[in-house]
Amino acid sequence: MRSTNEQEHPASAREASRSTDTAYHGVTIPAGAHGPRVQAVTAEESKDMAQKFDAIVIGTGQSGPSLAARLTKQGLKTAVIERKLFGGTCVNVGCIPTKALVASARAAHMARRGADFGVAIGGAIEVDMKRVKARKDAIVRQSNQGVSNWLEGLENCTVFRGHARFEAAHTVRVDDALLEGDRIFINVGARPFVPDMAGIQDVDYLTSTSILELDFLPEHLIIVGGSYIGLEFAQMYRRFGSRVTVVEMGDRLIARDDEDVSATVKEIMENEGIAIRLNAECMTLRHHDQGVAIQVACDSGAPEVVGSHLLMAVGRRPNTHDLGLDEAGIETDARGFIVVDDQLRTTVPDIWATGDVNGRGAFTHTSYNDYEIVTANLFDDDPRRVSDRITAYALYIDPPLGRVGMTENQVRATGRRALIGKMMMSRVGRARERSETQGFMKVLIDAESEKILGAAILGIGGDEIVHSILDIMYAGAPYTTIQRAMPIHPTVSELVPTMLGDLKPLE
Ligand SMILES: Cc1cc2nc3c(=O)[nH]c(=O)nc-3n(C[C@H](O)[C@H](O)[C@H](O)COP(=O)(O)OP(=O)(O)OC[C@H]3O[C@@H](n4cnc5c(N)ncnc54)[C@H](O)[C@@H]3O)c2cc1C
Repeated sequence: MRSTNEQEHPASAREASRSTDTAYHGVTIPAGAHGPRVQAVTAEESKDMAQKFDAIVIGTGQSGPSLAARLTKQGLKTAVIERKLFGGTCVNVGCIPTKALVASARAAHMARRGADFGVAIGGAIEVDMKRVKARKDAIVRQSNQGVSNWLEGLENCTVFRGHARFEAAHTVRVDDALLEGDRIFINVGARPFVPDMAGIQDVDYLTSTSILELDFLPEHLIIVGGSYIGLEFAQMYRRFGSRVTVVEMGDRLIARDDEDVSATVKEIMENEGIAIRLNAECMTLRHHDQGVAIQVACDSGAPEVVGSHLLMAVGRRPNTHDLGLDEAGIETDARGFIVVDDQLRTTVPDIWATGDVNGRGAFTHTSYNDYEIVTANLFDDDPRRVSDRITAYALYIDPPLGRVGMTENQVRATGRRALIGKMMMSRVGRARERSETQGFMKVLIDAESEKILGAAILGIGGDEIVHSILDIMYAGAPYTTIQRAMPIHPTVSELVPTMLGDLKPLE
């Protein structure tokens, strides 16, 4: 079961030929809407041919395929190179599979809570992990095949399956094929990072990629890392029926968010029986008859936790180590991210880097937004910039956290005069009706301009509701715009104006 960083070991892409409706970046691409199919060129067929393209797209993450579609639409002869799975991380081993699993976990959780709603379920709630995985796989397959069908169906586009490596600024090798491109777009993403912890060589471990292959229930899952990916797996596996312990080096979970958010997330996790071990410095791993043991020098609790399985969820690294960037003269920063400017241009003319690899975002929506920025500048005479965008992300535990703009800590750090509004979910009628009252809403306002600086909605529907605030922020309108609106009853959103009507100075 020992996991390797799969993305470091390129394999040929999954054969994807079934034409079917599919979802990509949340958009349904209807079957047959991909245009005429073009035979993909294998590396063998193109051996020793130096092929010239107007544009080369390396990687089919969340910006690569859309870039290819736009480039070909502009009449540019385009090559797309993918070494593994079409659609990249989000589609295959990221957002889509995890959110499919989160949905199964929520179904189990709500079934167990049936009695709270007056629903009697005879017998114990059982989770069939094989069926949970089969459901997840079917959802992933549909998206993955849709992306590959889409790309292979693009007119003027040649798809190469293999690992791309620069040989010079505008020359890329894919196995035996040599490609030259006037413009090159790098969308190679990132991979799970496994730190060189004491004892890691002696134990089996899972990553966010390999855990998705499990079709059984770990008896006791230990998760190293108390941030987004770790917490989603923690709650999911607890709801499936595993014992779960989260071990975090820092003194709180999701440390980039505010203390009250971290504390409430911890409470939500603990309410479901997940053990959280914070301040776990000097972690040491060792093989144990039952699986794995981890020594944790925490403030409190047993000094050793024994589990059946270990998930390492401590971050991700950009896929730049095996791309030949030095040959091309493309600069990376100290952590290996490709250095880009505000329009996502690398240090070499006519080469762009989009998605996780540029270190300017680590989400599907930031990667997709990168595609929009690049094409707006290239083709639409629209000077869009990375710095135009407002921070936005969600943590998909249940209830979810939706976050936009600045945190309270960040607002304080600016020293500006600000207002804060906060409302507990227990005061929200919709949350009470649904017996899901954990969490709170919080909003921060600039006292002078009355513009919204940021918000956190941790509670039922928080990942969706936060968009009403995000949209007002993009509109550049004052908070009074929402405050004066007439929202629909009964919703969580209807309490946002109420919260905005009770602002206090940020002390
Ligand atoms: C478990 C998990 C859950 C996540 N959940 C969310 C979520 O809920 N919401 C969200 O917004 N984000 C989420 N993310 C992050 C999200 O998946 C990424 O930010 C997103 O996929 C953007 O990636 P990208 O476009 O940079 O490239 P990627 O999607 O990583 O794709 C890069 C592609 O490039 C290919 N490639 C790499 N090197 C080469 C090479 N040399 N030659 C050819 N091809 C190459 C890879 O095989 C891959 O297909 C999650 C990530 C993980 C791991």
